[in-house]
Amino acid sequence: MISVEEALTRTLQATTIGAIETTDILKALGCVLAEDIHSDIDMPPFDKSSMDGYALRAGDCKDVPAILKVVGTIPAGAYPEFSVKQGEAAKIMTGAPSPAGADSVQMVENTGIPADGGCVSILESVGLGKHIALRGEIMRAGNTVLATGTYLSPAVVGVLATVGKHAVKVYKRPQVAILVTGDELVEVAQKPAAGQIRNSNGYTLYHQVLATGAVPRMLGVVSDRMDDLRAKIKEGLASDILLISGGVSMGEFDFVEDVLAEYHVSIYYDKINIKPGKPTVCGKTERTLIFGLPGNPVSASTIFEIFVRPAIRKTMGFEKLHNLLVQATLAASFASKTARTSYQPATTTFRNGAFFVTPVPSKGSADVLAFARSNSFVIAPADQSEFNAGGQVEVMLRFDFWQQ
Ligand code: AMP
Ligand code: MG
Repeated sequence: MISVEEALTRTLQATTIGAIETTDILKALGCVLAEDIHSDIDMPPFDKSSMDGYALRAGDCKDVPAILKVVGTIPAGAYPEFSVKQGEAAKIMTGAPSPAGADSVQMVENTGIPADGGCVSILESVGLGKHIALRGEIMRAGNTVLATGTYLSPAVVGVLATVGKHAVKVYKRPQVAILVTGDELVEVAQKPAAGQIRNSNGYTLYHQVLATGAVPRMLGVVSDRMDDLRAKIKEGLASDILLISGGVSMGEFDFVEDVLAEYHVSIYYDKINIKPGKPTVCGKTERTLIFGLPGNPVSASTIFEIFVRPAIRKTMGFEKLHNLLVQATLAASFASKTARTSYQPATTTFRNGAFFVTPVPSKGSADVLAFARSNSFVIAPADQSEFNAGGQVEVMLRFDFWQQ
């Protein structure tokens, strides 16, 4: 049985970076740039007022109040054809080009209007260059403003818009097929009969895939019969990634690995020294990366966070692949009665500059309610069983942490 680290290494070795596609910036959230971006303009494109006020010569208002003649008004969007000479000022709005001759802007709050009209009274002197953003001070035409590998945050999309890029090259979102196995499973709308339960994994995994930025494709529930599995797995092998829930344990009807073998899937591992999720399978065809996830809901979801999410992120060109690991203070003692590395569902909070974590009381890997209350995992190393309140532990923050 291989360690979590070894399984991760093999998973990422099996994962290739995805194809490149051109996408509209309105559809690019969560993607990574696959090209360097150059500016086609200077920013600002002209010397620009950053205040509503008066464009003037700083030298004219060394002694205040200074009365200056108002020679024009410059709204944003206009381009002043006149210049400001000694003893003059132009009324100017935020974002408007500073007129020739002016070297500073005094904000309107520091001015007054004298009774005789046509003039402005500058009530405070102003430093040279004040409130004027110089042409090109943010970027110059031809500058590389964004590099390949940049995550398209809302702010980065704003930069793309600034430099006139409506379509950009990104690493493609992989299509992730989700296949759920189990004779006992019924769909959400159905009331389970004796011996049956509803399929929840399909939906949790669907959302985990979506939240990672990939494109989920629901293949539905399939029985534990070999021929049904064959047909559905074949369908799934047309996707970039195939997640199969259930059917990978030691049960008499766990045929997933047999069917994968029939399709000549290279298997990278089929057991990890982890709790929950020991019977996880990872394999690959030329086209598709395949994960066989244990059927228990907490196990499937946990394995997704540790192994599947980083693989998806690698195909999408991310450099940072893993959920954030932090050191946290244990708020309650707990025991880990296993010789495997264990990932305990937990709630983590951040208070006064430090993380605090409490394992969620749980009935085990089927306890969907306990898991839904958690936002993180306490990672209990294989060689430690007692964890005392007040001690430091390693915690993996799921994306849920940032939403709560
Ligand atoms: P398996 O890995 O197929 O042996 O399933 C392990 C346990 O998880 C069994 O108790 C299953 O009934 C349960 N299970 C399997 N698939 C699902 C699912 N899609 N939703 C909820 N529970 C499931
Ligand atoms: Mg099963």
